[in-house]
Amino acid sequence: MTKLLAGVAFGALLAAGGYYAYANIQEDAVTGDAAVISETAPAAAGSVEDAAEFLAETEAEIGDFGEFAAHTAWVYANFITEDTEYLVSRMSAEATELQVRQAGETARFSDTDLPLDMRRKMTMLTAGITLPTPSGSDYAQRLAELTTRMSSSYSTGTIEIDDTPVTLDTLEVMMGTERDPEFLAMMWNDWRAAINPAQMSQDYAEMVEIANAGARELGFSDLAEMWLSNYDMPADEMEAEVERLWGQVEPLYEQLHCYVRDGLNETYGEDVQATSGPIRADLLGNMWAQGWAPINDIVGIQSGDGPGYDLTQLLEDHDYTPVQMVETGERFYTSLGLDPLPETFWERSLITRPRDRDVVCHASAWNLDNEEDIRIKMCTHVNAEDFRTVHHELGHNFYQRAYRGQDMLFRTGAHDGFHEAIGDFVALSVTPDYLVQIGLLEEDEVPDESADLGLMMNLALDKIAFLPFAVMMDQWRWRVFRGEITPEDYNTAWWELREQYQGIMPPVERPADAFDPGAKYHIANNVPYLRYFLSYILQFQFQQAACDMAGWEGPLNRCTVYGNEEVGQRFNEMMEMGASQPWPDALEAFTGTREMDGSAIIAYFQPLMTRLEEENAGSSCGWE
Ligand SMILES: [Zn+2]
Repeated sequence: MTKLLAGVAFGALLAAGGYYAYANIQEDAVTGDAAVISETAPAAAGSVEDAAEFLAETEAEIGDFGEFAAHTAWVYANFITEDTEYLVSRMSAEATELQVRQAGETARFSDTDLPLDMRRKMTMLTAGITLPTPSGSDYAQRLAELTTRMSSSYSTGTIEIDDTPVTLDTLEVMMGTERDPEFLAMMWNDWRAAINPAQMSQDYAEMVEIANAGARELGFSDLAEMWLSNYDMPADEMEAEVERLWGQVEPLYEQLHCYVRDGLNETYGEDVQATSGPIRADLLGNMWAQGWAPINDIVGIQSGDGPGYDLTQLLEDHDYTPVQMVETGERFYTSLGLDPLPETFWERSLITRPRDRDVVCHASAWNLDNEEDIRIKMCTHVNAEDFRTVHHELGHNFYQRAYRGQDMLFRTGAHDGFHEAIGDFVALSVTPDYLVQIGLLEEDEVPDESADLGLMMNLALDKIAFLPFAVMMDQWRWRVFRGEITPEDYNTAWWELREQYQGIMPPVERPADAFDPGAKYHIANNVPYLRYFLSYILQFQFQQAACDMAGWEGPLNRCTVYGNEEVGQRFNEMMEMGASQPWPDALEAFTGTREMDGSAIIAYFQPLMTRLEEENAGSSCGWE
């Protein structure tokens, strides 16, 4: 869910693509210590038999350590104390050491002619590292200093409002609720000054140099190629694939942009927001202009009585409890023919915030033993947002359990976009029809489809506005890693991409020492971002395929696959594969197609697209 995109303190303790991936903890994006390549020079090329033995040992080690790591992290996340922090940071350091050693050992087999599945495992062990460092312990230590300083600059940044320090979590809310453009610009600008940008920019440049050297030692031309090598195709093809997908959804974004710009113009006047050119980034309801739903009240679409029902109200009227919310979520998955959650799920999950201790409340889904010990951890409130979040988190759990029969390295998503897409796909099935079937809504209360536009607009402000942001985040990093953007141009190039993809501009002139990329969690903490873009593409593609399978003929946004065992069976076939096959095979198992396809988004939002085109008829859209 979007909450995850804001990042969490817990994430800073973990390592992306690192041990946590193997420990099967989903949701909390992992960052963490950099990995160092083994200093020992590789011996002579190993045989296929040696490789099989190495992989078997490595996977056993990963399984064993992953279980220990997951239990340690679970205890930390459920009881935050000085002591559990000690335990989890010690475990993280051990995880890094292990990961580094294993990556180094794969070098022995780089020239061995390996079967496809073994080659894929080797790639996972190397390209799965987010920040590699070259041989030489000085580099490792230096890289750790740099990443720690950036991470803490980000998480300790505060600004002053009326002489009172305000932290980012409060600022994030205020960016969505405040409507005074001068005040918005002040918060927006001060947050970007609060992260120690001059220092962070320098640190970032040095980090890139070291990590690039590490990537080269692992056989990649640079870190960009390494990050893009996790998708079962050559890096340059994957990059072109992202552009192709973006091109498919861009026309919808352009209409949304156009309509929102006009709405802001009406609200704030020509001096604040012109009817042409880019949109002022601070007016969009979000600190990074990545999700615009908070300004639905000023730029939304009036359609009858909106959605015609209030899910939060329905849940309250039916006296739902947090546990009942989770039970309802489980029932969705069992209605597809999947086995119920194990008894231990109910005994061990954290479903509400405890009264007497600190916990990490950010919703997450866990598999503690890589088998059946699946759990969620969330501080559930009885409202519409958490109702969808429950369906989302359980998607992770059902996926984790489905692929438990695979080899250890393959017990993960088909690619990193799949895991998030599973739960979001199911959450798209929370429709009026579904609510009727589970007894929350009366048949005669189902609103007319004409009332859906308001709801669809709200979803578009959340999900369509996000797409160009998610693309440009890693576009900027790939170019930086390749040396196409040099440190002097970090900020200028950032804004060129922001304008090119999102059509937005800064509200105030950027100072010479600004480092605006670093004001975003996933850059300050080195969490790759492409996965989020891919998961948004995939979830609508899943929905369209599932609804086709179900023989649905109405508008896609009204389709629920609740209770459809045929869909469930195909869905489960994909999930059971985990990462054991290249992702196009997994995609094909469920959807029948081997390519990611943004046209499902266009189909889903077609009624809105039509309405926006009508509304925008008199405007000159685009921002060139
Ligand atoms: Zn998730």
